Amino acid sequence: MNFIETRGNDGVKSPEVSFSEAILNPSASFGGLYVPKELPTLDENFILNHINADYKEIAYSILKAFQIDIDEEEIKKALDLYDNFDNAGDPCPVVRVKDDLFVHEQYHGPTRAFKDMALQPFGSILSSIAKKRDEKYLILAATSGDTGPAALNTFKNKENIQVACLYPEGGTSDVQRLQMVCEDGENLKVLGIKGNFDDAQSALKSLLASESFKEELKNDGIKLSAANSVNFGRIIFQIIYHFHSYIELLKQGEVEYGEEIYLVVPSGNFGNVLGGFYAKSMGVPIKKLLVASNENKILTEWINTGVYDIRDKELKLTKSPAMDILKSSNIERVIFSLYGAERTKEFMENLNEKGIFEMTKEETLALQELFSAVNSDDAYGAKVIKSFLDDGYLMDPHTATCMKAYEELREEKIPTVIYSTAEWTKFSPTVLNALNNDNIKYADKDALEEISSKYKAHLPQSIKDLFSAKINHDLVIEKENIEKEIVKFIRES
Ligand SMILES: *Cc1c(COP(=O)(O)O)cnc(C)c1O
Repeated sequence: MNFIETRGNDGVKSPEVSFSEAILNPSASFGGLYVPKELPTLDENFILNHINADYKEIAYSILKAFQIDIDEEEIKKALDLYDNFDNAGDPCPVVRVKDDLFVHEQYHGPTRAFKDMALQPFGSILSSIAKKRDEKYLILAATSGDTGPAALNTFKNKENIQVACLYPEGGTSDVQRLQMVCEDGENLKVLGIKGNFDDAQSALKSLLASESFKEELKNDGIKLSAANSVNFGRIIFQIIYHFHSYIELLKQGEVEYGEEIYLVVPSGNFGNVLGGFYAKSMGVPIKKLLVASNENKILTEWINTGVYDIRDKELKLTKSPAMDILKSSNIERVIFSLYGAERTKEFMENLNEKGIFEMTKEETLALQELFSAVNSDDAYGAKVIKSFLDDGYLMDPHTATCMKAYEELREEKIPTVIYSTAEWTKFSPTVLNALNNDNIKYADKDALEEISSKYKAHLPQSIKDLFSAKINHDLVIEKENIEKEIVKFIRES
């Protein structure tokens, strides 16, 4: 199946590209994104046929239905990486926490956050295509804390790939920083930036767009790509687990085929919930997608009013930092599906130029047929974390935002799956603050130990090992020097 462009074609780029092309060169005409030309229908027959399938089998069948131009063995090799998750047969368990509430635990991979669900197989596939084409790629990643570790882990020592990862110095948790600076692949460069996540992200975007930088790389025979969720190579793996949610509830006898469920997704760049939107479009009986936000409530405002307005808004730093965002990239793909390329181009240009776009009433209603949204603050999250642990379930601050949606947005009491996007170990000081009801600035190491001993919570070995690991990347630089450092890294390796 081919991929088309969300903002239409500029007459220079090819109007349709293969899956490989779309993931190697993820930026489409006019700054748009690639989306599948059509979605396969995988409804009753497909779902009932997979009721006894394990995660990898479901994944394989869905990828096959997309008819992507990747060899069967390469797909299988990529999916085998799920064997490295905590439980090879069940990499992302769906567990009941109460009544009709289920948690889809997406954090059982090597870096303890949901980014592994897609980046693990994506890394394998990208490197195999690069090798097959005999091309070398530099992958850029800017991270607020979870994408960086997951990207470094998946591309470590992969052939034909180098990675430069930018993180805001002081802007991540200790665990997240150590996961990056202790990685030891020859092909990896990790740079701390004096600035915040927006600075790191803008630096990345300007490098991706810079002709002089591309020329510089070209001299060394290197092409440029990106590992964030504008890349459809990540999104395709994020469709699969929404099928898995429904199949799990069928398996567990919680629904019969056709009965609808709610999905609640803690959202930032809208990549996770976009996968749910595609799954619903393909045939999974999902009543509605409930979008949870923190105090950066741009998505809530957009879905509730049809107006996306970032004028005079400043990013707030919250205790669920992976959801701290103003410009959410993947809403563009939903807009394209609902209203077409012309409208998408118009909206995105307005957003870039004026900081706002407004949909008509009919357009807003069409959006609200599919999505509902609500936001909550850190104090609410702390209460949720505490009350769930009182009942024996430990969750992270991103997952906690889902409860507001569960409580307020459901029109019917039907089975509801909330997505748990990170393990508590990545945000242990925040979790301990919630449990102790204090504001003490705990070090990650102390908070991890206290929580694991007091509440008998499991600490994965990979997290324990971080505190005695060798630091391989200690460079912290000014924004102005990013390009220079990356070029130096390329030349030296
Ligand atoms: C990335 C991330 C999110 C947001 O996911 P999007 O796909 O960007 O909406 C939520 N929680 C955690 C822990 C994350 O790492």
